[in-house]
Amino acid sequence: MARYVYDFTEGGRDMAGLLGGKGANLAEMTRLGLPVPPGFTITTEACRAFLDSGGEPPGMWEEVSSHLSAVEAAAGRLLGQPDDPLLLSVRSGARFSMPGMMETILDIGLNDESVLGLAKVSGSERFAWDSYRRLVQMFGTTVMGVDASHFERAIALLKDVRAVPDDVHLDAGDLAQLVETYKNLIHLETGEYFPQSPAEQLRRAVLAVFQSWNGERARLYRRREHIPDDLGTAVNVQRMVFGNLGPDSGSGVAFTRDPATGRPGLYGDYLANAQGEDVVAGIRNTVPLDELGRLNPDAFARLRAHMETLERHYRDLCDIEFTVERGTLWMLQTRVGKRTAEAAFAIAAALADEGLITPDDGLARVNGESLARLMFPRFDVSASGDPLAHGIPASPGAAVGAAVFDSAEAVRRAAAGEKVVLVRQETTPDDLPGMIAAQAVLTSRGGKTSHAAVVARGMGKVCVCGAEELSVDLGGRRFTTPDGTVVEEGTVLSVDGTAGAVYAGPVALVDSAVMRFLEDGRADEGAAGVVDGVARALRRADAVRRLEVRANADTPEDAARARRFGAQGIGLCRTEHMFLGDRRKLVEEMILARTDAERDRALAALMPLQREDFTRILEAMDGLPVTIRLLDPPLHEFLPDHTELAVRIASAEARGDLPDAHDVALLTAVNRMHEENPMLGLRGVRLGLVVPGLVAMQVRAIGEAVARRVLAGGDPRAEIMVPLVGDVRELRIVREEVQRVLGEVSETSGVALACPVGTMIELPRAALTAGRIAEEAEFFSFGTNDLTQTTWGFSRDDVEAEFFSAYLDKGVFPSSPFETLDREGVGRLVGIAVAEGRATRPGLKIGVCGEHGGDPDSVHFFHAAGLDYVSCSPFRVPVARLEAGRAAL
Ligand code: ADP
Ligand code: MG
Ligand code: MG
Repeated sequence: MARYVYDFTEGGRDMAGLLGGKGANLAEMTRLGLPVPPGFTITTEACRAFLDSGGEPPGMWEEVSSHLSAVEAAAGRLLGQPDDPLLLSVRSGARFSMPGMMETILDIGLNDESVLGLAKVSGSERFAWDSYRRLVQMFGTTVMGVDASHFERAIALLKDVRAVPDDVHLDAGDLAQLVETYKNLIHLETGEYFPQSPAEQLRRAVLAVFQSWNGERARLYRRREHIPDDLGTAVNVQRMVFGNLGPDSGSGVAFTRDPATGRPGLYGDYLANAQGEDVVAGIRNTVPLDELGRLNPDAFARLRAHMETLERHYRDLCDIEFTVERGTLWMLQTRVGKRTAEAAFAIAAALADEGLITPDDGLARVNGESLARLMFPRFDVSASGDPLAHGIPASPGAAVGAAVFDSAEAVRRAAAGEKVVLVRQETTPDDLPGMIAAQAVLTSRGGKTSHAAVVARGMGKVCVCGAEELSVDLGGRRFTTPDGTVVEEGTVLSVDGTAGAVYAGPVALVDSAVMRFLEDGRADEGAAGVVDGVARALRRADAVRRLEVRANADTPEDAARARRFGAQGIGLCRTEHMFLGDRRKLVEEMILARTDAERDRALAALMPLQREDFTRILEAMDGLPVTIRLLDPPLHEFLPDHTELAVRIASAEARGDLPDAHDVALLTAVNRMHEENPMLGLRGVRLGLVVPGLVAMQVRAIGEAVARRVLAGGDPRAEIMVPLVGDVRELRIVREEVQRVLGEVSETSGVALACPVGTMIELPRAALTAGRIAEEAEFFSFGTNDLTQTTWGFSRDDVEAEFFSAYLDKGVFPSSPFETLDREGVGRLVGIAVAEGRATRPGLKIGVCGEHGGDPDSVHFFHAAGLDYVSCSPFRVPVARLEAGRAAL
């Protein structure tokens, strides 16, 4: 037969699933011999059975009463015994700490009779009536469902009548009167009387805790935190101890280390003559924990000893709730404490230093998300006022700059040395120069995977997107907030990409010590703990990880930065930005060419420019692999906007002028190249097969760059990557062309060129035919952004705003598949391609270069899938190193 109740002496920390976190840790403390008020835990299983069947499982109450009898026997009195009542607390406690569930009910067992007994044995009438008053209030709200405001109004009214400022000034008579008022309120509101039977109080309190598992707030919280709905909560029933019995009593909370910085020492708050609830409620001012040392040196010394025991036992920062009853210390709760990102690293390093944990434990206790947070500068929140608006925290960090409303203005002002924030409704590839020039990007539309968000994250640039409260008037160069504040171009804004908030005016910044350390190895004074923690974690990760970490970088500057961050090469060097800027003219000529000769001229003019780019990138990454991807996006992306051209031509005609011939030619080309679904159109390898000379030009530029570097004494390791391949024949055709051109360059330069040629796997067909593709590919790199789009059949740019939030709300996906790899679908394709690719070509080098390469959860998947490397934006390189290490533990 199932067992539903465990005494605190029977459980332990490894039983959190059954006993909940609180119950398991109460049992653990009991086992360690710490002074825990006796009690027992009703299991999560009992809760589940109750919720499933609508009634308590058979035998549960019998078990509860026999455990209660044991507690009564130990105390030498009975629950609610009229002359000397044993009182109980009923405390909820699920597997994961969970706000929104029913709170604790204290002082179960008091009634009209036992309150008098309590007054006598405690020697304090006021204490007894205050306890009873609290019970009726808590029971009335949480168990009987009376609105809390009724009780609050009643007590406020009484204070008015008595003309006293707060509760502590109400005397025993006042409180007794309040109890009467409360009981009448309950009867008025529910038609029921406050139960006088202690056993009934206990029973109803336990069931109310069970029921609160399905409360609306609790359900919402679970959904947000991805906590399963079917775990249920345990209920802890425990003898009450009293911190409100006079000046030699009190309650407090304590941490074994500073949870903000990780520094060792005792931290916490204490409140004399109070119950624990008062400490957190902030009704009265607490004093620092040290004060307990003065008030009660003996209890303080014991507390310190217990805290040391707990930290050594849990081998981690613990937080603790305790109560002192007339000089005697009682431990009421402990758990491994929450901490800031900074403290997580510092504590892991300190505990490893003390030999309490192994270096691997230390690595397991930190994570990439915390590291990412530590790399960004922060606002000094104490110095900021109210935000102008909130949006989605798309790319973390803090930035200050003048508001500008278009890319050109951003570039112009930045060139003049001004810091700017680019404000748009949403961004497009045309805004790229402005985004690069800006300190931060703010949009009023779009979600976490909108263009602005993705590009900003890639660049490590602060971004708040989807700030829908703002109405952005691009033409008027201003935006308006809901309260009517108008923000004109040039107004200084502070953008908090970590919190998703925007402030008017400059908010002071605190620099990131961790970033400075990662960039140049310096450790600032005052940040030694966290910097040492980060250094140690990364050292360990590098020692144990199997995955290599490369960076996605298109410029020599990014390449150099990535290298400083520890990148072991470039996994994706996109060539499309090399077609922008001044070179646009040449690209237009290539696209508009009417003859082969015209096209060859344009390509010939582009070649040396690309060669120069590649030479500098190969120099920055000397000795490390640089995977260069041939041109991917559709050509019309390099042509001007259709509407703009049409308007220009139409207005020329309206003026009676002849429209510009170049404009007309461009418009024709734009029309000709228009695609309904550019994402599925003429792009990637298809361009190479259709536009004569394009592949040859790019390969020649790569080959000549390699030859130059070799002749200059360097060690260039270029790899050529073909995008969007769906069939081995596409790759074969391109590869023959690559080999032909490299042969020519070898001959003319006298340098033997052996650049590996590989392909991206970013279409389902490529993954499914990977065995064939591997015949021609010397390496694979998963383009998981496109692979996700094509597997799900939705385009990232379009679905975001349309239905992603609904899908997330309804739980179709736990998180966006563009942020965290969809293991079940996309992951399956990855698995097939790895297995079949390596069946054809054992030892085939395989990496990933989508955004997922820097996402912690996805990195763990790629490790398990047997990939050789991940490639991510330079700023994510340390994060990926850390997570690759954690994946290998
Ligand atoms: P939470 O999960 O909100 O921390 P707890 O179950 O810890 O809820 O209860 C809240 C507070 O109630 C505790 O911090 C403690 O001060 C008080 N409390 C709970 N049980 C007892 C008890 N047996 N004796 C005295 N106070 C208690
Ligand atoms: Mg607690
Ligand atoms: Mg792609």
